Amino acid sequence: TESKQVPPKSAVSLTEAPLSQSQAAPLLSVIVPCFNEEQNIQPLYQRVAGMFEQAGISFELIFINDGSSDGTLAQIRRLSQQDERVRFASFSRNFGHEAASSCGFRLALGQAGVILDADLQDPPELILEMIALWQQGFDVVYGRRKTRIGEGRRKKVSSFLFYRLLNLFSDVPIPTDVGDFRLVSRTAMDHFNALPEKNRFVRGMFAWIGFRQTALEFERQPRQAGNSKYNWTRLLLLAFDALTSFSVAPLRLCMAFGALVTALSFLAAAVIIIQKLFFNLDVPGYAFATSGMFLLGGIQLLFLGVLGEYIGKIYTQVQDRPIYIVEERSDKLEQQSDKVQ
Ligand code: UDP
Ligand code: MG
Repeated sequence: TESKQVPPKSAVSLTEAPLSQSQAAPLLSVIVPCFNEEQNIQPLYQRVAGMFEQAGISFELIFINDGSSDGTLAQIRRLSQQDERVRFASFSRNFGHEAASSCGFRLALGQAGVILDADLQDPPELILEMIALWQQGFDVVYGRRKTRIGEGRRKKVSSFLFYRLLNLFSDVPIPTDVGDFRLVSRTAMDHFNALPEKNRFVRGMFAWIGFRQTALEFERQPRQAGNSKYNWTRLLLLAFDALTSFSVAPLRLCMAFGALVTALSFLAAAVIIIQKLFFNLDVPGYAFATSGMFLLGGIQLLFLGVLGEYIGKIYTQVQDRPIYIVEERSDKLEQQSDKVQ
């Protein structure tokens, strides 16, 4: 998926997109999920708008307010009143980064979409390079974190483990050290939007859809203001969620383990029978029986938990609730989100 060989495909031209925003779709939709980022909205807007204006690229900036409790929504509202290129949707509560990104992709009108964190950890300047690769025919250009400046060792270790573990079990290879910072073509976006799952692990889903994908390495910057919303528990939950969304390996592991334990107990029984029949040895059984009972009890509970995780996923899917609820929106355009949900 990462070969730099460019496949033949009709390239998208920058000049195809008219610069007038109100009349036609912009070239690029920049999607920014925001959860309590009031200090970051204005700097992000200035940096992104300035950059694209200088490069002569038409864009829209879509802010998704993910249930912030600070002044984030007010900031976004103000910007969208000042600048028609700024659109937004505001959730009725915090639905999480994955839901916010999903909403952004549904609202996007551009010929390509980019997910950008509000905290400017992912340098917007890289988008220009992503656009270049997209024009060469790639459908997904994801940013790969080469280094992480200003992130603690704990965060680095947990992220390292997160990606390695995920890949060990996942059915589709999910690129390592790749966050959600990526550019995707209209085609990739449409296919992503059509995926019906409620449990949305965005990076995994983009790995799953296929098409021509490539990586772009960059140095992850420190947060421009505010704090990270991901602690160890949240990251662990995301990892487990991702794992069970993209692999049935845990179920197979349970089965393999069950088979192993069964084989071992047959072996143990055979040993006892042989000792009794041929050597007339009496084996006191209670120690083995009690420890065996506890061991098996523990394993069974653990495996029930794994089963439960999958059943839970089926349950959420069957409930068929929307992925998020939009409370307020900048425009009244008929959106895909209204139809799909
Ligand atoms: N975010 C969100 N909803 C959440 C958590 C985070 O929309 O429930 C946004 C957040 O505002 C930021 C981006 O997702 O724009 C990445 O979050 P963060 O910087 O906290 O993650 P990290 O960079 O530490 O992995
Ligand atoms: Mg961040």
